[in-house]
Amino acid sequence: MSHLCDTILQNYQMRKTDSQKTAFIELLQQHFSELQVEKVDKNRNLVVGDIAKAKIIFTAHYDTCGRSLWPNLSIPFHPVLKFCYNILTLMPLIILMLLVIFGLEPWISDLATRTLLGLLAYYIPFFYKFYGAPANPNTANDNTSGVCLLIRLLETLTPAQKEKVAFVFFDNEEKGCVGSKAFRKLHKAETEQTLIFNFDCIADGEHILFLSSLPAEKQWQPLLKQAFKDENGLTVGFTNSKKAKYSSDQKRFPVSIGTAAFTKHPLIGYYFSRIHTVKDTVHDKKNIEFLRVGITRLIDLLS
Ligand SMILES: [Zn+2]
Repeated sequence: MSHLCDTILQNYQMRKTDSQKTAFIELLQQHFSELQVEKVDKNRNLVVGDIAKAKIIFTAHYDTCGRSLWPNLSIPFHPVLKFCYNILTLMPLIILMLLVIFGLEPWISDLATRTLLGLLAYYIPFFYKFYGAPANPNTANDNTSGVCLLIRLLETLTPAQKEKVAFVFFDNEEKGCVGSKAFRKLHKAETEQTLIFNFDCIADGEHILFLSSLPAEKQWQPLLKQAFKDENGLTVGFTNSKKAKYSSDQKRFPVSIGTAAFTKHPLIGYYFSRIHTVKDTVHDKKNIEFLRVGITRLIDLLS
């Protein structure tokens, strides 16, 4: 692992506020003079390489989330179970809203006023989670792992290999993939057919899944299977976004692959369950190295 990634793991895991992000950007600029900050609205996406010429654009979001009490559970093959889990985590707010609407009746007779207060009781804590909650101090997997993979590629690829590809560190994924949406809007023509290869939560789990959009599956899966093979105790799986759901920045792009690492459970299959909480401390460097080697192979396979 590079010294830069160790520094980020030690001192730059919180990248939620403007000043935390600025400190991180300045650190990257010290190491990579070619890094461009592309500002669109409130997003600062960090770009290395020529987006128009790149055959593949490797991406990872660098922003991090607020500290949450409940983990953001990922179970890509069971969307209904995931939906039920999400409802469960919202239950305290739903109960609070109902208590305000129906419990205040003796004091406030007007139903419209009580409904408005109930909605406020629901939405204020809901949005606080996105905008007001203090930064989660531990983001080893989400997404310091993706950031470190891109950094390792920038450090190790030869100039000829780098020439074929580009890199983007997206801002504001945690606010709803806002940075990647802005990037797509700005580079619509250039990203219409280019593969966006995204990495989000790749360092906690021994099963690496590549979830392709249908155009990406058709165009890229044969090459992907040549580049990534089971090795060093890690397995790879290839599926498409119709069969498995994994929400991250790749969803903004037509030709795209989302990549994440999972643990396998006998009942629910692939899952991970620590991110967005203080338990997000697992950062297996073996995973980063595995993906770095596979990507390097993939780039060498490009004509
Ligand atoms: Zn993430």
